[in-house]
Amino acid sequence: MQTLPTPTTIDTAANQPIFDTKIQRRKTRPVKVGNVTIGGNYPVVVQSMINEDTLDIDGSVAAIRRLHEIGCEIVRVTVPSMAHARVMADIKQKLIQTYQDVPIVADVHHNGLKIALEVAKHIEKVRINPGLYVFEKPNNNRSEYSKSEFDEIGDKIRETLEPLVVSLRDQGKAMRIGVNHGSLAERMLFTYGDTPEGMVESALEFIRICESLDFRNLVISMKASRVPVMIAAYRLMAKRMDELGMDYPLHLGVTEAGDGEYGRIKSTAGIATLLADGIGDTIRVSLTEAPEKEIPVCYSILQALGLRKTMVEYVACPSCGRTLFNLEEVLHTVREATKHLTGLDIAVMGCIVNGPGEMADADYGYVGKTPGYISLYRGREEIKKVPEAQGVEELINLIKADGRWVEP
Ligand code: SF4
Repeated sequence: MQTLPTPTTIDTAANQPIFDTKIQRRKTRPVKVGNVTIGGNYPVVVQSMINEDTLDIDGSVAAIRRLHEIGCEIVRVTVPSMAHARVMADIKQKLIQTYQDVPIVADVHHNGLKIALEVAKHIEKVRINPGLYVFEKPNNNRSEYSKSEFDEIGDKIRETLEPLVVSLRDQGKAMRIGVNHGSLAERMLFTYGDTPEGMVESALEFIRICESLDFRNLVISMKASRVPVMIAAYRLMAKRMDELGMDYPLHLGVTEAGDGEYGRIKSTAGIATLLADGIGDTIRVSLTEAPEKEIPVCYSILQALGLRKTMVEYVACPSCGRTLFNLEEVLHTVREATKHLTGLDIAVMGCIVNGPGEMADADYGYVGKTPGYISLYRGREEIKKVPEAQGVEELINLIKADGRWVEP
């Protein structure tokens, strides 16, 4: 159940309680992935994945670079075979020669130990899926797993995971234990059901093996294509980790979110809900679109929650019968003129009746004053009234006069 916020301090001058609205992030250990750190007090890291075949070295290098240039901080690739794993050495080298080093995480799938060991030599982080890493073909005649059968497979997992853990540990590299609701191992399904609990137990089994080998550079994910399942799984994982004294960072994502507006809303519903709870240290929005389209969505989620500021924050009223100008058009013009001024909050409000009070402490305000005139505000202070036709130009002049303008 949601609890009401409690005041953190009292504003003695106004004799009013002050609420701290900043998101309090769950405390996690910092996990280094090349030159990027996930967790600790570091900003939430943005990830995406190229869809090139890594055997195409030039295509993959170009795709990794494209993503990195627009803000993707860790790039994921998939290595379905030994050849794909080996070629990561060339991709890395070419990136460094022609661009710069970019942290790479490689996905390994079914029975992927040998591939994982090879790729671990070339990149910074390996992602394994506990449901597939030691893959047992589902048996239609089976209806349960005895404790000894369950443990026997557990021993096989340990045996298979150990060499990879030792390799990553000794190289100071990282691992993501990436559980997927859609690919839980059969023995987990039979024992815990197709549930968030089954997902959590899957991850814990792998975490315990890593810890027994003194390897803690771990990031955990609990992805599902159904948002409520995904939210429940991450919340349960965070709770269980707290109870067990584990502080591993979480990688958030909704799988198979689809495309277009609904894909973005679905991803945001899952990722933002958890981030608002303080859960999550790195995110990926998975869209059935070019991976470059995922990055702006990640940044918008983080910006909206106040977790990272990568663009101007615009506050604009929805407009109503009181609106004194074409708000949509003016907002567009103001945005086009100022969108490069990262760090500023700019409000565009339709009227002075409610506008100034609702500008949410924006740095600058553009507010409808009387027909044909607008007022410019610095914070809550009205600076000047100007004809609407000069509004945007005068807003820029005001920002310039304050020394907060930079040329685009
Ligand atoms: S700020 Fe003024 S114009 Fe905008 S929605 Fe509120 S009352 Fe209407």
